[in-house]
Amino acid sequence: MPENMERTPLLEIEGLKKYYPIEAGISKKKIGEVKAVDNVNLTIYKNEVLGVVGESGCGKTTLGRTVLRIIEPTDGKVKFHFDGKEIDFTALDKKELRQMRRHLQMIFQNPYTSLNPRMTIFDIVAEPMRLGGGFTEDEISERVKTLINKVGLEVKHLNRYPHAFSGGQRQRIGIARALVMDPQFVVADEAVSALDVSIQAQILNLLKELKDENNLTYMFIAHNLSVVEHVSDRVCVMYLGRVVEMAETEELFYHPKHPYTEALLSAIPVADPTVENNRIMLPGEVGNAANLPSGCCFHPRCKYACDECKEKIPELRELTPGHFAACHRIEDLKLDGIGELKVKNAAHS
Ligand code: SF4
Repeated sequence: MPENMERTPLLEIEGLKKYYPIEAGISKKKIGEVKAVDNVNLTIYKNEVLGVVGESGCGKTTLGRTVLRIIEPTDGKVKFHFDGKEIDFTALDKKELRQMRRHLQMIFQNPYTSLNPRMTIFDIVAEPMRLGGGFTEDEISERVKTLINKVGLEVKHLNRYPHAFSGGQRQRIGIARALVMDPQFVVADEAVSALDVSIQAQILNLLKELKDENNLTYMFIAHNLSVVEHVSDRVCVMYLGRVVEMAETEELFYHPKHPYTEALLSAIPVADPTVENNRIMLPGEVGNAANLPSGCCFHPRCKYACDECKEKIPELRELTPGHFAACHRIEDLKLDGIGELKVKNAAHS
C-alpha cells in the first residue's frame, strides 16, 4: 500500500473461531475439539496485501475460508465495510450471503484440482456470474472475454477444457474466475505454491497488476516467506490457530518480536550454495490443535521458554504502532531479523 494512502478498514475480524468437534462412539459423544482457528482478531485495510504465514496445520487456510464463510465459523464476527455501510458478514442468511459473496472471492491452492474437468473454460469463468444471477448471456460473454484477456489467455481458449492447459495457465483461469464478479477482497490461498518457480513470478506479477488495476485487497496465504515478503504490505504469522505476530512487512522481517517468526525467517533458503544457512531447527512438529499445549502453545518448541510460558497464554500486544506480538519475553529477547541472519550467514560462507 502506498505510504501516503489513508488506511480504511475493509474487513474487521473479531474473535473468529473455527472449532471442529471430536466425537466418539455410536452416540457421537463430543469428547473434545480441534481448534483450527482460535480467537483471531485483525483488520484488513482497503487496497493492501495482508500476507498470512505459518507451517502446514497452523490454521491459515481455515482462517481464509472461515472469513469468506466457505466454512462457517464457530464464533466471532467478520465486519465488511462496503458502500459506506458496515455489514456483519457472519450474520447474513443464505440469500444475502449469495448476493454479498460476489465481493469476496477466493483463488484456490491447486490449479490441477480446483477446476471442474467437465466444464469448458468459458463455463468455469462464467459460473459465478450465472450463480449470482442478474446478468444476460451477452454481458457474461463480454465480461468473461475481458477477464480471459486480462489474465493473459486468448479468447480462442474459452471452448477448451482444463486438461489442455499447463499449471500456470490453469491458475490464470482460476484467477479470472475469482475476479469475474469484480470483487473487493480476494483470499489467495497458496496461489503459486503448486507452480514452477519461473511460473510463480508470472502469476505474482499478474496478481499485482490486477490489484493495482482493480483496487483489490488480498489476503495472501503462503508458507513461502520469500514470496510473502515480495507481495505483502503487512504480514500476519499464525501458529496453532492463533496470530502470534503481525506487522508491516519490512518491520516484521527486520525486527521480529516472536521466536516463531525468528525461526521462520531463519529457514528462508539462501541463494548462494557456498553460504551456510543459520537455520533455527525447531524441535518436533507443529503441536496438536486437538490438544493445545498449556500457556503459550509454542512453548514445547521454543528455546526461550520460561516457567510463565507453560502456564499463561500470552496476549497479542501492540508494541509499536502496527506491530503486534504475543510473547511473555518480548522485552528481554533480542531476536534476529533477516538483516542479522544475512550477516551471520555471510560470516559462515
Ligand atoms: Fe517462547 Fe515463551 Fe514467548 Fe511463547 S511466550 S514464544 S514460549 S518465550
